[in-house]
Amino acid sequence: MMTPDETAQLTLWDKTHVWHPFTQMRDWCAPEHQPLFITRGEGVWLYDQEGRRYIDGNSTIWTNIHGHAHPALNAALLEQAGRIAHVSALGFANEPAARLARALTDLWPAGTLTRVFFSDDGSTAIECAVKMALQYHQLTGHPERCAFAAFDQAYHGDTMAAATLGGIAAFADRFRKFGLTTHHFQNLQALRAMPEEWSDTLAAVIIEPLMQGSAGMRPWPAGMLAGLRAWCDERGVLLICDEVMTGFGRTGKMFACENESVIPDFLCLAKGITGGYMPLAATLTTERIFGAFLGTYAELKTFFYGHSYTGNPLACAVALASLEVFRREETLARLQPKMERMSRLLAELRARHPRHVGEVRRCGFMAGIQLMADAETGEPYPWEDQTGARVCLAARAHGLLTRPIRDTVVLMPPLVIPEDALRQAVQALSQAIGEVCGPG
Ligand SMILES: *Cc1c(COP(=O)(O)O)cnc(C)c1O
Repeated sequence: MMTPDETAQLTLWDKTHVWHPFTQMRDWCAPEHQPLFITRGEGVWLYDQEGRRYIDGNSTIWTNIHGHAHPALNAALLEQAGRIAHVSALGFANEPAARLARALTDLWPAGTLTRVFFSDDGSTAIECAVKMALQYHQLTGHPERCAFAAFDQAYHGDTMAAATLGGIAAFADRFRKFGLTTHHFQNLQALRAMPEEWSDTLAAVIIEPLMQGSAGMRPWPAGMLAGLRAWCDERGVLLICDEVMTGFGRTGKMFACENESVIPDFLCLAKGITGGYMPLAATLTTERIFGAFLGTYAELKTFFYGHSYTGNPLACAVALASLEVFRREETLARLQPKMERMSRLLAELRARHPRHVGEVRRCGFMAGIQLMADAETGEPYPWEDQTGARVCLAARAHGLLTRPIRDTVVLMPPLVIPEDALRQAVQALSQAIGEVCGPG
């Protein structure tokens, strides 16, 4: 809670000094806009400056897994803070990082993804994979393999390399000519049609396995990922799986790749790795990739890359605690019936709004609800109407916080959400759609 005076003061400071991401700041700073301050969280509930509570409908930008202020995660954080908050990974080792690297590799079949490179965010996990792939080909005599393949509408983060791998024009086009050479493909068939002279120049293909998130929650057809792995093996191209969104239970299994028994050459993890507590990322890879970087110092095969907070022990301690909670609370087993439940609730939502809910796309515990001016004819809302944003704003009044992707409303609550809260969340969306889009 904050007093009205505190709210006024902090709002002024925020509007005067904070530049918010992915935000048109003229609208944000407009006098009529009162930002919501989130002051507290407990389980799936978030509380604002006036003590109103909301369901965390998008897991705090897709990060939260076990709920907010989880006792086990809080305890792990405090315990580690009592010892030391940070240790440089440049020249030193620390206990939580060593334990976490072991625990992450233990989630994969023995001898597959055995090496863990820590960084801070999804984007940096991608940067690491990109640089490792390029350097791997240089070190193994194939410097010509220096381009990348990615998919239309892909999203891999906002740092330069990650951004230019992206296929969402509004985010990436402005920077494309300054970044990596990336070829975009609509789907696996289009990629397969690529002539060999062309695929011979590829360092790697990158994909969001099973479901593209920022594209508006778009699932891939079943079998696509396994097909992509086979194609990469045929053409000698490395496979980067960006599981920044799908990792840590979102698809119903710990990792999306498990659904199609795929082992990537690089696995990028972030968002859910700490249960949504701290910035931490990991790029996992194989002994084959790792081995190419070994040599004498003078050979300059070293991977010259790292961040100041690489392997941060606070973040690693919380990530370890999160994996322990997965085991103790049987998070994945308890999620299975809830995925079905989400599916049924969203089918009902669509039936209640046949005109304006055009499509519901779901994979595991991630869903996108596509709003349309007329679902029958497929007519979209004009984008400048910001219908998705207005629906999410209306849902606030009914106790739900989430964020749209254009006119796709995201529903992706923490994995631990109880069934009654899930029903409440969909109910709030239904009311909001009725208010903003009108009947039908
Ligand atoms: C969020 C996201 C990223 C970027 O992660 P950040 O931590 O925001 O840098 C990359 N890839 C996917 C699939 C994501 O959802």
